Amino acid sequence: MISVKEAEDILGRSLLPIHLETVPLDKSLGRVLAEEIVADRDFPPYNRVTMDGIAIKGAYYEKGQAVYKIEKVVAAGEPRYAIKDESSCVEIMTGAVLPDGLDTVIRYEDVTIENGEATILVDNVKTGQNVHGKGTDRTKGEPIVPKGRVMGAAEIAIGATVGKTHLKVHKLPSVVIVSTGDELVPIDQTPEPHQIRASNALMLQAAVQSLGLPVAIRHLTDDHEAVIKGVRQLLNDFEILVFIGGSSRGKYDYIPETLEENGVSRYFYKVKQRPGKPFWFGAREAGNQFVFALPGNPVSCFLCMEKYFKPWLKNSLGVVEHKEMATLKEDIHFKPPLTYFAPVRLEYKGGQYTAIPMSGQGSGDLANLADADAFMQLPEDQQTFPTGSTYPIIKYRHAL
Ligand code: AMP
Ligand code: MG
Repeated sequence: MISVKEAEDILGRSLLPIHLETVPLDKSLGRVLAEEIVADRDFPPYNRVTMDGIAIKGAYYEKGQAVYKIEKVVAAGEPRYAIKDESSCVEIMTGAVLPDGLDTVIRYEDVTIENGEATILVDNVKTGQNVHGKGTDRTKGEPIVPKGRVMGAAEIAIGATVGKTHLKVHKLPSVVIVSTGDELVPIDQTPEPHQIRASNALMLQAAVQSLGLPVAIRHLTDDHEAVIKGVRQLLNDFEILVFIGGSSRGKYDYIPETLEENGVSRYFYKVKQRPGKPFWFGAREAGNQFVFALPGNPVSCFLCMEKYFKPWLKNSLGVVEHKEMATLKEDIHFKPPLTYFAPVRLEYKGGQYTAIPMSGQGSGDLANLADADAFMQLPEDQQTFPTGSTYPIIKYRHAL
């Protein structure tokens, strides 16, 4: 048996190797960027007008000139114009190129236009106003989006602006979730009194999908031959295998031994924690293939998923996780020398979380997951966790 810290350290050292692939920009949402997105030209690429109105040379206004002859009307999308008489003006539209010789834009609301002339009505014009200067956001060649960023709508817009039709991103590993157990029936069936619906595989599928990965689901019966055959096949087909159940001390718990017989090295088995003790983790083929065997008990399975599997997967994909803490609002007592992941409800006030312990939860009590918001991680070397003390939380409700 190993400690929570040792389990975390082993997982942190055993990440999936990074492979890259190129995808079209419009298919890159949620993917981890493996190259910088760089400005292909100055941004903005020209002195860009930011208001509909007139453009003048500010020096004339500063000398007291209020009336300007209109030399031309300039629209967005027209090539750059050079003013012939710098004491005149142009009418100009948002997004247009500021003509050579002019430097200041006054919005239509602050002028009147009559008989081919514009008259400025306000006395607060500043030379250079309403012009977004060429290269003031980024100059050509400067990075805009760093490597490692998860592509969102803003990053896609930037990619589009610099003409990146394709991007290099981290390749997505193939993931399979494998439930085990003869008591399980599919969710659209009515279970017999001795059966239950299989819930864990869908829970894990949701977690994997939330990271944008495709995921397959399989089921193995509690038959030794079926487990041996199934495990061999799955090891041929997938890079990340997550087994559920069948990894404890029961007569029909064949998963750990079958994995080890098929060349998967055990990195650890059993973690000093509650819930989730019978948790097995290993790898095959010099760390190109990773196998998790999570306890079948729904709350144990959920805890192992949130505490270990999801962070490992994120870490492997290059996504940075932030640790969060909360302060206890009531005492917790827990005697066994195990790390206790206490289900808590969270309150958020003044930028801090307060945790209210939820009573009466066994590790099979799936329904109570809906009432709690997080697990609080309470260290194994203490038995009393007093009100006001602060511990890490694994928050699984994200609307908070
Ligand atoms: P096991 O680890 O196979 O001994 O299973 C421990 C407990 O978890 C048993 O009560 C199982 O019925 C339950 N269990 C195992 N797999 C699942 C699953 N996929 N969905 C819901 N419960 C499960
Ligand atoms: Mg079982």
